[in-house]
Parts: sequence; structure tokens; C-alpha cells
Amino acid sequence: MQASRDKRDCASEVIARCQTLARFSEDTGSIRRTFLSPPMRECHGEIAGWVAPLGVTSRVDAVGNLRMVYPAAKPDAPRLMIGSHLDTVPNAGAYDGVLGVVLPIALLGALNGRKLPFAIEVVGFSDEEGVRFGTPFIGSRALVGSLNDDLLRRQDAQGVSIRKAIEDYGLNPAEIAQAAIEDNVLGYVEFHIEQGPVLENADRSLGVVEAIAGQSRMEFTFVGHANHAGTTPMNLRHDALAAAAEWIGAVEQRALSTSGLVATVGAIQAKPGATNVIAGETRLSLDVRHRHDETRNAAVDYLVRLAEDVATHRGLRVQCNVLMDQRAVPMDPFLVSQVEQAVSKAGCEPYLMVSGAGHDAMILAEKVPAAVIFLRTPGGVSHDPAEAVEVADVTKAIDCGLHLLDQLSSSSEFQRKTAHA
Ligand SMILES: [Zn+2]
Repeated sequence: MQASRDKRDCASEVIARCQTLARFSEDTGSIRRTFLSPPMRECHGEIAGWVAPLGVTSRVDAVGNLRMVYPAAKPDAPRLMIGSHLDTVPNAGAYDGVLGVVLPIALLGALNGRKLPFAIEVVGFSDEEGVRFGTPFIGSRALVGSLNDDLLRRQDAQGVSIRKAIEDYGLNPAEIAQAAIEDNVLGYVEFHIEQGPVLENADRSLGVVEAIAGQSRMEFTFVGHANHAGTTPMNLRHDALAAAAEWIGAVEQRALSTSGLVATVGAIQAKPGATNVIAGETRLSLDVRHRHDETRNAAVDYLVRLAEDVATHRGLRVQCNVLMDQRAVPMDPFLVSQVEQAVSKAGCEPYLMVSGAGHDAMILAEKVPAAVIFLRTPGGVSHDPAEAVEVADVTKAIDCGLHLLDQLSSSSEFQRKTAHA
């Protein structure tokens, strides 16, 4: 009873700390903290102050990731990484990413000086959202060694390159290679708010992510003929907007009839865009996601063929461009089963799910076994000041994290695993 009260206090402190970090913002009155912005430095200073009394050494690596190491019982032991991102979108909430940095610090505190067979490295990634440079995961990509020169030349709205931003912050781009993880990393675990309504709908506190969905992003352009809306009979039209509407309905039908598939046309532009003119051209976005690449690719192929059929029978042309084709990333089956057990021990029935959004774990999974634990997101609201978490859910997440550390500490199978296994 006492122990559970302690965890609840601990959860309240986690929430209060997320709120404290929310004060470090580029904007007055709302949260925005982008890659290597001045408030990121204040955020690092605050967190370093929290972890120092726990015997944790912290440093900022060459791409601005905050790296905090809680030592193992013995020197030269392998390490477990736990983390998430410290950057935010504009007008953000206080928990997306940040919770996944603050919560593992609470786990270190709860260990109360007890050392495990492995070190624990808590990472606060410098960029996951991709707001400043229009490309996400700058922080985690440095850890897997995929931050190349092309990316470093990318510029923000002010014409400052990533390389220059790193130098301006007082860091050395020549040391980026040293930010990469070594072979002694046993795995990566991430706590993150779900950012969706699934757990709330299922009345669960925690979700166990089995896979991060693959994504296709495309752009479609239907080209017909613009003409007078009053004088052109219906049978003599080549209406690009009507064609788009027919196709959008089919996109929704395909997703509704395929288990686990989500497909979205989120943007549409019609030209010339006047009430009394038949649209001559429409440009549409398409976003398709699924945990299985075959299912996603089959849906995309079908929707491309369908767009061509719709265009042909209406006497139009259609063009499509692929903007993104990101493979699905399964989480590590061993870690997933360990998380399931830990969730059960925390008093929750494990709820397996697919993450529709990308997370740092998706990048880390290229090199090490990875797992993600979702926390219920009230109202499914995120990327918004109304973003929240429940104390009870954070309490269960802490309990789950402590059970997970205990399980992994006594698992010879886990400690035998090495990076690239
Ligand atoms: Zn996030």
C-alpha cells in the first residue's frame, strides 16, 4: 500500500516536471522548442540538475542529444537505453516526447541507489518532430550513424544549415560520429503518449507497441478541362474535382474494408477554384499506413490503378508522385514480451497495438532491439496545449518500468543479446 502511494507521488512529480520543462519555450504563452534553440539549453540545464544527485553523469552529444548514464553494478557492463525527444511542435502540449525523458529519470530515482547488471542511459533527443529543418529524427539518426553530409547541409527558414546550427550552439559537427551507439547497447525502450484515442476507447492505461506502421505519402493530380459552369452540359464535361471526389470516396472504402489500414486524403486544391467554373485540375495528398508493408503496398497499387480508371472513364489524365515510402518497423519480440509481462505485473491487461505515428524507437530499431510503451492520451489529443496524462496512468507506467528493469536484470537471455544481433 505504502509502495503504491510512493509511486503515485513519483507520478505526480513526473507530471510536475513535464510542466516545468514546458516553461522553456521559444514563444511566449505557448510551447515551441525546436532543434538547438536557446530554450533547449535551459531544458538540458534543468534536467541535468535533477539527475546529478542520482549519481548520473550527463553530457550533450554533438547533435544536441542529452545523454545521461546511470552506472551498472560493475564497470564495462552493457547498457539499456531509455528515452524520447525534448523538441516540440509549435503550440505544443507538455508531454509528447518530454514524458519519455522525465519518466525514466523517475525510474532511476526509484532504484534508490541500487545498481543493475547493466548501465541505464536515458536519452533526451534533440529533434524528432523535424520542425526547424523539415526533416525529422536528427537526434536519433546520429545514434544509428545515418546523419549524412547531405542532411547536414539542409537549411532552416533563415538559411542556417544543420551543420551551422550545431556550431552556433557550441557543438562540434566533427564529433557526430562519436554520438553513435556502440555494440554494448542491449536495447532501447521508449515511453510515449499514444497521441490517439485507441487506449481511451479500450479503457486501458498502457499499450504495448508491436510495430510502427509503414507509411506511403503521395501526391495525385487529376487534369481535365476548366469550362463555364452554366453553359457546359453535364455529359460534355471533364471535371477534375468530380473525378477527385469519386476517387476520395474509394480511398475511404478501401481503408474501411482492410483491417488495420488507415488512408487519408488530407489536402485538396482545385484550379481555378471559382464557383462558376468547372475545375480543370485538382491536386490531392494521399497518406496510407499499415503494419504490414505488403498490405500497404497493395492498397497503394489499387488506389493508383483506380485513379487511372476514374480518369480514363471521365476523359481526364492523372499523374502521381511518391513523396515518402517508409517501411513498417516491427518491435523486438523479446522486449515486447517482457513489456507485456511488466504491464501485467503493474495491474494492467496488456493491450497490443500498432503505432500509426513514427517515434525515435523506429530509428533505433535499425541497430538495437526496441520497444515502445504507450500511455493513454485523454481525448486522444496531442500536439496541442490541451495534451494531458492521468496520474493513475503515469503511476502504472512507472510500476511497469520498474518491473521491466527487474525482469531484464534477471534475464540472462537479455544480457546475452548484443547490438546488431
Ligand atoms: Zn513524440
